[in-house]
Amino acid sequence: MNQIQQIREEAIQAIESSQSLEEIKKVHVDFFAKKGKITSLMSQMRNLSPEERPVFGQQVNELKNELQQAYDAKLEVLNQAAMDQKLASEKIDLTLPGIDFSFGHVHPLMIVQREIEQIFMEMGYDVLEGDEVELDLYNFERANIPKDHPARDMQDTFYITDELLLRTHTTAIQMRALEANNGEIPIRVICPGKVYRKDDDDATHSHQFNQIEGLVVGHGVTLSDLKGTLELLAKRMFGQNRHIRFRPSYFQFTEPSVEVDVSCHMCDGEGCSVCKDTGYIEILGAGMVHPAVLEMAGFEDKTITGFAFGVGLERVAMLKYGIEDIRSFYTNDARFLKQFERFE
Ligand SMILES: [Zn+2]
Repeated sequence: MNQIQQIREEAIQAIESSQSLEEIKKVHVDFFAKKGKITSLMSQMRNLSPEERPVFGQQVNELKNELQQAYDAKLEVLNQAAMDQKLASEKIDLTLPGIDFSFGHVHPLMIVQREIEQIFMEMGYDVLEGDEVELDLYNFERANIPKDHPARDMQDTFYITDELLLRTHTTAIQMRALEANNGEIPIRVICPGKVYRKDDDDATHSHQFNQIEGLVVGHGVTLSDLKGTLELLAKRMFGQNRHIRFRPSYFQFTEPSVEVDVSCHMCDGEGCSVCKDTGYIEILGAGMVHPAVLEMAGFEDKTITGFAFGVGLERVAMLKYGIEDIRSFYTNDARFLKQFERFE
């Protein structure tokens, strides 16, 4: 009985003096666990006489219940204290200034590309892409620019081998599309992509730039179909009051070929510094697909004709947003790029 009293005092003392969850856990180990002092009291029962056993057992049970209650009460107090401390340490100061998140946005060239793609997709065109490293065959020969032709001046083209080059125009994609169709019509595609020329970089030239070319092939496709298509493009890109005019030109790939001017969106054709007082801005090249090009791609039916056009994305973006230096697109100056957030 003395031993019971002694353990009671020890346990109460240990529980009361516990200041933390770690300390109260130790009390549990010392008294309540398998090798704890209360459990070891129980094992002493076998040394007692049968008459003494029930009395002793009852005493031990009472002790156990009493200590368990004291233990539980203290544990709750310490748990609460630990929670209060955690909450206090995680307190949020709502008066502190916030963190300024910096979001990226679409590059101005991509904004223009997506706009043009959207216009043509609405008219049922497919968007085709191709490889930037291209075979001479598709970049030049199939586009009616045979070897030794002055148009493929070595000065202009980055050759990798005699037959492999960095494409100088996205025409190569169109030539592959023609070949893949193997005489089947209709074809309605636009081909956006990066192209490369050996050019010295300045405010209006870059050795790398972006084009979108378009190609339509079908029965009886005419120059007036081309005009209507490009007029729609001009109105969608530069405003409903725009109109276009054709000037005769020369490209190997088309016959007849035209330069396409759009009435100036800055002065409405009155004359200003952007259009150099002409009222018009030269914006793209176009024409009827040369019969030799169709023939090389396997189109034998002479009633099948087509038109093609090509536009420089940088040129369109510069006119649309009043950008004066083409190099601004590539120098990754965040101050320049940030201005285009609102155009997305
Ligand atoms: Zn003007």
